[in-house]
Amino acid sequence: MKTLFILEAMTTVNQAILSSESELESLDRAIGDGDHFINLKRGCAALLAMHDELSPLAPAEVLQRMGMKLLSTIGGASGPLLATFFMTLAKAEKTSDVSTLADIASAFQASVDAVKQRGKADRGEKTMLDTLIPVAETFTQLTQQDTDRLLLLTALQQAAEQGMQSTREMIATKGRASFLGERAIGHIDPGARSSQIIIHTICELAKTKIA
Ligand code: ADP
Ligand code: MG
Repeated sequence: MKTLFILEAMTTVNQAILSSESELESLDRAIGDGDHFINLKRGCAALLAMHDELSPLAPAEVLQRMGMKLLSTIGGASGPLLATFFMTLAKAEKTSDVSTLADIASAFQASVDAVKQRGKADRGEKTMLDTLIPVAETFTQLTQQDTDRLLLLTALQQAAEQGMQSTREMIATKGRASFLGERAIGHIDPGARSSQIIIHTICELAKTKIA
């Protein structure tokens, strides 16, 4: 991974989150407490404020500082989980050279596994993991098959979209939505949608980098 790409991704993800305000707010109002957008907005703003401090640093250090900042600013259930994701990516960068797509896929998989452990959750519980787990699986599979980059990025976007949509018919067994029982059915999970927005945005950015 490259610091420049991480910082560009941070800027575009911030824009994408800001433009999804009403949708994210209403999803969390339906099955949570309505603060998911504001939590993410606060996290993104804190990261953007670090831009100049981060730009001279190595990717491992950038990701580590981003994770720490998210931990102290987002709060809620999603803050520590997103922080865990970044800090695990940082660890992968620190311990090995994450340069090929297969390396990035394996760092992504390790980060999703860390989120699973931290939240004691898995696929099918109506959380962000329903977006993240299928993306990690697709990423690993397609990099093993040496798929064309554009096809790979599109496949990751599709996996995220399908995973996010799959939460609609689920009962939640983790997080605030689990208090609702069957009343959560019919609503997409806000964390699954925000994760999908983030993945979609980063893949779009990565597509513009393909020579
Ligand atoms: P809070 O639920 O504390 O208000 P947010 O609204 O910011 O925090 O985030 C809610 C999202 O967090 C949910 O939509 C869900 O995707 C995610 N989430 C909650 N608990 C877990 C968990 N144990 N594992 C994974 N994701 C979770
Ligand atoms: Mg909430």
